[in-house]
Order: sequence, then structure tokens, then C-alpha cells
Amino acid sequence: AVLVARRASARARWRRAVALLREFEEGCATPTARLRQVVDAMVVEMHAGLASDGGSKLKMLLTYVDALPNGNEEGIYYAIDLGGTSFRVLRVEVGMGSVISQKVEDHTIPEEFMGSSEDLFNLVALALKNIVEREDGKDEKRALGFTFSFPVRQNSVSSGSLIRWTKGFSVGDTVGKDVAQCLNDALAMCGLNVRVTALVNDTVGTLALGHYYDEDTVAAVIIGAGTNACYIERTDAIIKCQGLLTNSGGMVVNMEWGNFWSSHLPRTSYDISLDDETQNRNDQGFEKMISGIYLGEIVRLVLHRIAEESDVFGDAADSLSTPFILSTPFLAAIREDDSPDLSEVRRILQEHLKIPSAPLKTRRLVVKICDIVTRRAARLSAAGIVGILKKLGRDGSSGPASSSGRTRDQPKKTVVAIEGSLYQDYPVFREYLDEALAEILGEEVAQTVTLRVTEDGSGSGAALLAAVNSSNRQRQQG
Ligand code: BGC
Ligand code: MG
Repeated sequence: AVLVARRASARARWRRAVALLREFEEGCATPTARLRQVVDAMVVEMHAGLASDGGSKLKMLLTYVDALPNGNEEGIYYAIDLGGTSFRVLRVEVGMGSVISQKVEDHTIPEEFMGSSEDLFNLVALALKNIVEREDGKDEKRALGFTFSFPVRQNSVSSGSLIRWTKGFSVGDTVGKDVAQCLNDALAMCGLNVRVTALVNDTVGTLALGHYYDEDTVAAVIIGAGTNACYIERTDAIIKCQGLLTNSGGMVVNMEWGNFWSSHLPRTSYDISLDDETQNRNDQGFEKMISGIYLGEIVRLVLHRIAEESDVFGDAADSLSTPFILSTPFLAAIREDDSPDLSEVRRILQEHLKIPSAPLKTRRLVVKICDIVTRRAARLSAAGIVGILKKLGRDGSSGPASSSGRTRDQPKKTVVAIEGSLYQDYPVFREYLDEALAEILGEEVAQTVTLRVTEDGSGSGAALLAAVNSSNRQRQQG
């Protein structure tokens, strides 16, 4: 009788686990119709953000980048790419329409340098000094592209102040400061003759490199630790900055789409819990459903609730109460495990989450949760991309009418540069994203759109923009 009762209660617990899974799955659902609503909401918010500052959660920041590298750049340029707890230093030599050589150095930022802006920028400047002295000699005058992957209110292409930190990164007193100035000061202190001539978001660097290789590139997307996009907008559509004149008639707009919000987004109670754990509550809502530092945590929250209410992980599931213990690479490894007995999933549960003996059906449940989170993220990213295409009239919906009876013009080819670990290192994510693009756009239009992965675009693109801007300046001066 005891055995029968135990079996019955095990069945009831399993049913509870499955019910929680189903509920989560429904909450995360992104049928095509819903994605289309997200696309339309994105377009509405883009207009609102372009109309006035504060008009939308989408900041639609001016970049003052009105000319993208076109192959005429020549010389040696440096770049710094700072986007979180690590940064890269690049030395890029360009000429004859291509990158001749490129050196990249990775550095991490030790905890003790995150206390003040001064410490942070001194650390970065010293790293640059090392490579400049080694490669070119200390006194060499060079232009520097500074990729700073946080929302910045720019005053010019080479200056701008930090609006707020994102991605859980934060350094004491930097908000409100001109980050290009901070870096220039630190460079001068080091005795370097290098100055920032382009301060850019990582999306803008990525667009620059994409455009350097293919002039049909009109937008760039990052889906890594954080997520964001930028694109080339006509200046007359940037209502909040009337009278803005550029030679090209256009300017790159940094959308800061991580902060996009719409009631059409499929938000669950777990997303609310996640938001509560972050230092930037109520902000970066889109990012928190899409990007690398959050996906594993959503999975962790779901598993934790299931563990508490159903006991399917036994009592060894304490680790599941530790925030951010499950990072996205683990989530990806779980989802990508295609062995029949899910041995990789078993290993991760054992070694990483200290769950020793989850039976196969429990492992399947874990895979399913990772799948739901991944799929939603990828599909929402696709909706964001289509939002940009729609704003640009390149989603096929406003194509030339065939009233004359003639067939439509050949559709325009559109290239979107894309970077970030989720898209580059996680095949299932990429498949889901591509699939959703085709679903929303229809196969025919989807074929006119290419997502092109650029390598190191955020950094080397910034070096190219440094080149564009140092020669622009020279031209203006004489
Ligand atoms: C930042 C953006 C950045 C993106 C990708 C977001 O959290 O706000 O400026 O482009 O992460 O790095
Ligand atoms: Mg980056």
C-alpha cells in the first residue's frame, strides 16, 4: 500500500511539473500573427522615438555617423571595443579597399578597476599604450575608434555621454560623463598621441564593417550578451532633430532596441521575476527576453519553480536557487544535445547544477524548457529585424504596385550585418531566427534579405570609422 501511494504521489508530482511546463510554453508562444504585432509595434515605436526624445522607450539615438567606410580608407588606425567586463584593443591597417592586417588583443577588467571611471579608462589607455609603443612607437599620431556598447547621447561623432549602464555592468561615476573625453584624458596622461575620432556603439561598428564589404548593408544587429540594432535613416525622417543636414542625406540611428517594450511581447511571471533581480528594473525589457546574459537565468527560474512544486529533481536541487548559475552556453549545450540518452544534459545537470540523477524524462523536460526560451528569443529577434525592414520599406509590404499590369520590379537586395554569440555560436538559435524571418516575410521576400555575420565588426568597424572621420576632418580643415 505504501508503494502504491508513493507511486501515485510521484505521478502527481510529475503531472505538476508537466503542467508548469505547458503553462510556460503557452506564455512564451510566438505564433506568426503575434510576431507581426511585434513588428508593427516596433515600427510605431521607431516613429515615436524619432519624433521626440523620450517619445518612446526606443531611444533612437543619433550617432552623427553620416558616412560609412567605402574602401577609400588608408592607413593605420586603432580601436578600443568596450562592452562589459572585458575589452579589446585593435590595430587595423587598411588600404586598397580591404583590411591589410589586423591585430586584436583581449583584456578582462579586474573587479578593482570597476570602482571609478578614472580607474577604468586608465586601464584601457595603458593597454592601448602597450600595443602602440610596440607597433608604432610612442609618439606616433593616430586616430582611434572607440566602441562603447552602452546607450550614449552623442553630441558629435566623436563625443557623447553615457545615459545608463546595461547588461549588469556598472562602474561608479561614469553615467552622464563624456566617455570619449574620459578616454582622451587617460590617453593624454599616458603620453600617447592617439585621440578618439569616432565614438560608436557596437552595432554601428558592425554596420560600418558590413557596409565596407557590401554597400547593400543597411542595418546591423547584435545578439550577444546584450542586444541592439542600428540602421541608416533618412535625415528628414529624424523629426526630433530638424534641420539636420548631412552630405549623404542619411544618418545611422542607434535604436537601443534592447529597451523596446510592447504589450504584444509574450511576458511570463518568470520574466517579471528576472526583471526584479536586475539592477535596471523596468528597463531593457526586450533585451531580457533575448540576450545571452538573461536566457540561462530564465531557464533557471523555471527549473527552480518546478523543483519546488514538483520535486522531480529530488532534494539535490539547491543550486537552482542561485541566481545566474545557469549561463547561456550551458543552455545552448543542453538544447544542442542530440544524443539518444541526453548524456551531455546529464553531465551538465550533475557537474554544474549538482543534480546527480535526473531520469531521462526529466532531462527531456529540461531540454524542452531550454528550447522554449531559445525559440522565443530567436523569433522575437526576427520580429525586430523585420520591424527595421518595414520601416525602410524593404519588407515587401510596400513594394511597387502592379496596377500597370506589369510584373513587379526586381525586389531590392537587403543586407543586415549581424554579430554576437547567440547568432554565431548557437546553431539552433540561428535556425529559429531564420525560420521566423521567412515566416513573417514570406519565402520570396525573405530571399532578398541576407543576414551576414561580420567578424570583429564592432571593433574593426570602429577603426574604419576613425579613418573616415580623421580624413573628413582633414578635408574640412583645409
Ligand atoms: C546596450 C547597447 C549594445 C547592446 C549589445 C545593450 O545592452 O544598451 O548599447 O549595443 O547591449 O552590446
Ligand atoms: Mg561586443
